[in-house]
Amino acid sequence: MDASGSQQLFDDWDDISDSEFLNIPSEQQSIDAFVISLLLLHNTVLLFSRNEEPLGQETVKTENAKGLKRKSLHENSFSPMQRFFKRHLSVTLLCDQSWCEMKTVYSLLKPFVKRKEMQQDTEAIKLLNMLHMIPLLEAGDRVREFPVFGVQEGVFVMGVIDELMYNQKGELVLNELKTRKQNSLPSSAQDKVNCFQVGLYKLLFDGLVRGEVKKDHVLNHLKLRSSQVLGAGIQAHAKSIGVQVTTFEEVVDALLITVSCSDLPCVDLLQIEYYHQGSSGPIGTRVAPFDEAQIRAELQGHLTYWKGQREPKGVDIEEAWKCRSCLYEETCDWAKNRLQVSDQQASHSSS
Ligand code: SF4
Repeated sequence: MDASGSQQLFDDWDDISDSEFLNIPSEQQSIDAFVISLLLLHNTVLLFSRNEEPLGQETVKTENAKGLKRKSLHENSFSPMQRFFKRHLSVTLLCDQSWCEMKTVYSLLKPFVKRKEMQQDTEAIKLLNMLHMIPLLEAGDRVREFPVFGVQEGVFVMGVIDELMYNQKGELVLNELKTRKQNSLPSSAQDKVNCFQVGLYKLLFDGLVRGEVKKDHVLNHLKLRSSQVLGAGIQAHAKSIGVQVTTFEEVVDALLITVSCSDLPCVDLLQIEYYHQGSSGPIGTRVAPFDEAQIRAELQGHLTYWKGQREPKGVDIEEAWKCRSCLYEETCDWAKNRLQVSDQQASHSSS
């Protein structure tokens, strides 16, 4: 996810300072809070079921309800400040409370409802930004951070292309920018990974312009309430870039039609530009080869793990040098087993 997207998502945490964030309650405290929340909801359910008792017991019922209510307030030794781990209250929260206190409490008890709505707006912004970039790219401008997605080998895959532009030959160039600590081009092993990355981007981008991405792919993957009306700010943003939409589904429709009916071709050239971290100077540019069959075969190999068809595997013996700079070397079973096997082979050959 890009920075703006994550910002949107985490705006929900606007009343938690950085230091508080680091002091987030332990797992046990979270479980306690969850149990407390359940108890609170349970009490509410009790209150409602009491209210459903037959007529004639109205006085008793009201008294019982009041009694329960009093009991729940007094029996629970935690104040809402403690219960919701609040050390301070934000102005936003207090304003929400002045709109409806119960709604505010629900937003704390059921934060995922709010998050889902926010996620919908976040995804809508990403798609609207894509819609904005398509005519710019068609007109010959360079566009940056262009999201791409689609179903590849049965799995929904997403990514963000660093740069897209036309070169002097009129070819559409996909440019990936990489920074390196060493002022030199990467090893062939790293280069292979980078070529796989840009190859995947090309598969995804080409799928979009060829009209292979369907609305259902996006909606099924994101699992958002696609017919829900977007926030007023998002609708205004859409209008400002000339798109008339009110729901997330309409944004998806607009994007898929625009990109597939655009003049954009498939990517012609894959490039990786390397820059030195210390000096920010260019190190060099690598043109990446594109062999669709090879990229698909590699992707299929990776997906067998994600689909649960095999256990994860470590590096081959020829690439054992990768383990020397790996954070997990000391605990990695794969590396340990490989070491045992090579020790056994060494003792066999010496005996
Ligand atoms: S130590 Fe294990 S996880 Fe790390 S590179 Fe080696 S095989 Fe992979």
